[in-house]
Amino acid sequence: MILLSIDINLIKTLSEAFGPSGFEDDVRRIVTEELSRMGIPYEVDGVGNIIARKIEDEDKPTIILDAHIDEVGFLITHIDKNGFLRFEIIGGIDERILPSQRIIIRGNKGFIRGIIGAKAPHLLRREEREKTIPYRSLFIDIGAASQEEALEMGIEEGAPATFDTKFTRQGNRILGKAFDDRLGTYLIIEILRTADKVPINIIGVFSTQEEVGLRGAKVVAYKLKADYALALESTAAADTPGTPEHETSTCLGKGPAITIADRATISSPSLVRKLVEIAKANNIPYQFKGRMVGGTDAAMYRYSAWGIPSTTISIPARYIHSSLAVADISDIENALRLIAKFMESVSRA
Ligand SMILES: [Zn+2]
Repeated sequence: MILLSIDINLIKTLSEAFGPSGFEDDVRRIVTEELSRMGIPYEVDGVGNIIARKIEDEDKPTIILDAHIDEVGFLITHIDKNGFLRFEIIGGIDERILPSQRIIIRGNKGFIRGIIGAKAPHLLRREEREKTIPYRSLFIDIGAASQEEALEMGIEEGAPATFDTKFTRQGNRILGKAFDDRLGTYLIIEILRTADKVPINIIGVFSTQEEVGLRGAKVVAYKLKADYALALESTAAADTPGTPEHETSTCLGKGPAITIADRATISSPSLVRKLVEIAKANNIPYQFKGRMVGGTDAAMYRYSAWGIPSTTISIPARYIHSSLAVADISDIENALRLIAKFMESVSRA
């Protein structure tokens, strides 16, 4: 059921944008351009968080909508004499998926593409073949024949990198990188764009460095006072072969996932109850995040100066933190509906 017009082009732009933790500049530019176009004032703080304010009526409730603009990635740590690059991992990437991945590196002369290489299977000893190759044994091949050539291409130690993935849509499904959390980023922009008639104050926080420990949100949470905080996220779906039903955590196409608790926070029970009541009253499909894993920026608002009632609303996505995730457009639509109805409801209170 398509009820809203989802801006697939904006989702594509956000998904393909380069933004490993600490290097979110490109994503920040896209978001601030959208905010400027909408005439919404914003500031950028010392760690690169964007704080946008859509203030309708000071007497009405204020809601923080948070999404992180960073993604998992890599840092180049060494260039050897034959032009191969060694790297460290930024955030939680499963090293089993690394060999043969396409990589994009931001060098000092622009973007350079490479591939994560490993010893060919023919050349592996039997005991090596049965084990995961640790990432420290892998390397990035950018086609340089020497260290001098790599430096000439603009690659230096400390250069950030991430997966090089084109976004595609197939029917109601979208495939791309960094859905965690460019889908949340998209949700906030779309809500700011369409929330005109709701008399509620929205603080949109586009946070940095979430993937390395909720660091951007930690900086803003102490400064912002609000009645509610919602972290808008993408969370792991494991509705795939081999996973028992009770371990799927979330499923594609069954609606936005509400977090009751994860490793970083216990959501405000009254807020969770309210979201569920609103979903039921408006026939909006929803699910609970079924596993008490991970942690989101919601924890920072919950446990900062004001103890703001908070929870997380997530778009389920398969294979997050890899080069390619899969999500369902209907979950994005239903998340937008749920948040819109929630804002409507609390603005009346
Ligand atoms: Zn996330």
